[in-house]
Amino acid sequence: MNKRENIEQLSINFDLYTGKSSDLHSIKRMLSDMERLYYDNKAFRKEVESNDIIVYEYYILEIPATPENLLYGTTILYPGKVGNEYFMNKGHFHQILNTSEVYYCLRGEGYLLMEDPEGEVLIAKINPGTSVYVPPRFAHRCINVSKNEPLISFYSCRADAGHDYKTIEIKGFRKLIIEERGKPKIINNPNWE
Ligand code: ZN
Repeated sequence: MNKRENIEQLSINFDLYTGKSSDLHSIKRMLSDMERLYYDNKAFRKEVESNDIIVYEYYILEIPATPENLLYGTTILYPGKVGNEYFMNKGHFHQILNTSEVYYCLRGEGYLLMEDPEGEVLIAKINPGTSVYVPPRFAHRCINVSKNEPLISFYSCRADAGHDYKTIEIKGFRKLIIEERGKPKIINNPNWE
């Protein structure tokens, strides 16, 4: 039996500037999809009602969700803020918690925020050319601190790792990144848990 029968295409092309791929489909997240994730809910409501824009999109390889496969794609996080909190993606734990992930930044400027269930927090600054290893058991979220550029990264993890968004939607991350006097600042999340 041909072991690669389910992998239709071995080479996938990504545009290095936009992060997009015409070989894959993307999933788009609007600001209105980010309910309860930004700490300033008043600012969030105001933004959603006046200007419900796309916050991020990600391209993802469709591949059988088995432990021997890797999935990969790009994430494109647009610039913007809700109140003084930078645009970010939802962030997630993996359903198979004890799995890792790799990010490689192609464009923009931002942070990868990580935390494990016991509360250890890791924060990595990312710029084009930076790779970040997300250790097993750590939830992860990208934050774009650029005023005008998208934050674009390539990522890869075990194909069966799965996404647990719920835990973050309910509890949030322990830390947030806001803008203060024009610069990023890491603060404790006042709404955590
Ligand atoms: Zn992940």
